[in-house]
Amino acid sequence: MKKSARDFADINFEDQIRDTREIIKIPSVFDEETASPKTPFGAGAARALEAFLRVAEKMGFRVKNIDNSVGYAEIGEGEELAGILAHLDVMPAGRPDDWKYPPFDAVVENGTLWGRGAVDDKGPAMAALYALKALKDAGVNFTRRFRLILGLDEENGSRCIKRYNETEEPPVFSFSPDASFPVVNAEKGILRLVLTKRSANETSAEEISLLALNGGDRFNVVPDYAFAFVKCGAESRGRIKNILEGMAVSEKDGGILVEARGTAAHAMEPEKGDNAVQKILRRLKEVDFCAGDAEAVGSLCELFGHGIGGEGLGIASEDEISGPLTCNTASVETRPGDRAGKIFKVKLDIRYPVTLDSQRLIENIARKAEDSGFEPEIATHKPPLYVPKDDFVVKTLLDAYESVTGDRPAPVSMGGGTYCRFMPNSVSFGPVFPGQPELAHQANERIQLEDLRKCTHIYAEALLRFNERVTADWDPASHCTHTLNDVTKQNPN
Ligand SMILES: [Zn+2]
Repeated sequence: MKKSARDFADINFEDQIRDTREIIKIPSVFDEETASPKTPFGAGAARALEAFLRVAEKMGFRVKNIDNSVGYAEIGEGEELAGILAHLDVMPAGRPDDWKYPPFDAVVENGTLWGRGAVDDKGPAMAALYALKALKDAGVNFTRRFRLILGLDEENGSRCIKRYNETEEPPVFSFSPDASFPVVNAEKGILRLVLTKRSANETSAEEISLLALNGGDRFNVVPDYAFAFVKCGAESRGRIKNILEGMAVSEKDGGILVEARGTAAHAMEPEKGDNAVQKILRRLKEVDFCAGDAEAVGSLCELFGHGIGGEGLGIASEDEISGPLTCNTASVETRPGDRAGKIFKVKLDIRYPVTLDSQRLIENIARKAEDSGFEPEIATHKPPLYVPKDDFVVKTLLDAYESVTGDRPAPVSMGGGTYCRFMPNSVSFGPVFPGQPELAHQANERIQLEDLRKCTHIYAEALLRFNERVTADWDPASHCTHTLNDVTKQNPN
């Protein structure tokens, strides 16, 4: 009997593990020190791409390296181009002590492959390549071209995929093995803002004033630490300490240092964290500061001190497809302004539902912020991604998933930003199975070999189905909430 693509995925599986391990052993973390015009994301990333393309070329793929920024391996014939979006750069490994096996040794033990990139995204990238090879080995008659696109800075701004879009042919549709199964068809919009407020400078020596208020740093992290320095005379200290009871307070030269601790979390899931900046704002509001600082602390607290749904800004909302809007008060900092005044800067990371009108959202925030004396500025804005669940691409991927696993869960939405935003009609597809822990970006990143095999089967089934199905009556333009133009002009990060 003629062997199927799945049979060939099994036959080639030992080779697949070998090649995956070789790629994991190349530490392709973004590296400023070896970054140059020739290797824009560092030497390691460039080496990983070279090694991957060599494997693909040996299998008979057409390969191209575009400036060591992004590359691809292509197979098949025909007018239409379908894409698979993966990346070969990895997150820094963090502390070596946190790992059971060294992050770049690619150890296989008890049916599990350990190492940075095992799940995100080298394991899945290699699985996609071997899925394509399985079709080729099975003698499938290609009706379109399939291109596995391999970026080198997905983790650090996705400039690689923008570089791709500058000169290379965009696929008509794509899937990206860089998130989870069954299919991620909705990604919230991500709006990052910096809001600045200048506060008055009329403090006299006797008055209680706020000299510093700092906490948090990165947009996408719920801050776990914040501190404030309250300037006050010796006679008020006891009273202020009483007001701040329960907080960590200590007397310092000229006043009181207040500290708040919380729990860090990713801004796409702020409910998993405990925001230290919000905590300290709510307590500082009780202190009887001089008029200018009382006003500043009051408005900071009102706008940014409560909740994770943008309540203070009046932007709480949700939709059925992608869930609630989330708003992370990511940081606050104080800087000296002119003539002894102060400048407060707040960073917000807002993830908004896919059906929300972003223009109105931005206008509403601006109005509310300006009413309280804040100047809002957009740092970055990524529009949402949404491909309906009855779309050709989503349906085909679900069919493939069901054919291997026997399950057909509904597609899911997420607040994180993947590559898919940068390509039209793309959705995330694997590698993490429903109910499995998320190990990407963490110590002890690993994948079970049986899951890797299952992934490869699912990808092969998806590619087979895409190869068989005609897209002639499919109108991608009517199905997508963004166009290539919208996304390529967005800022990095
Ligand atoms: Zn990734």
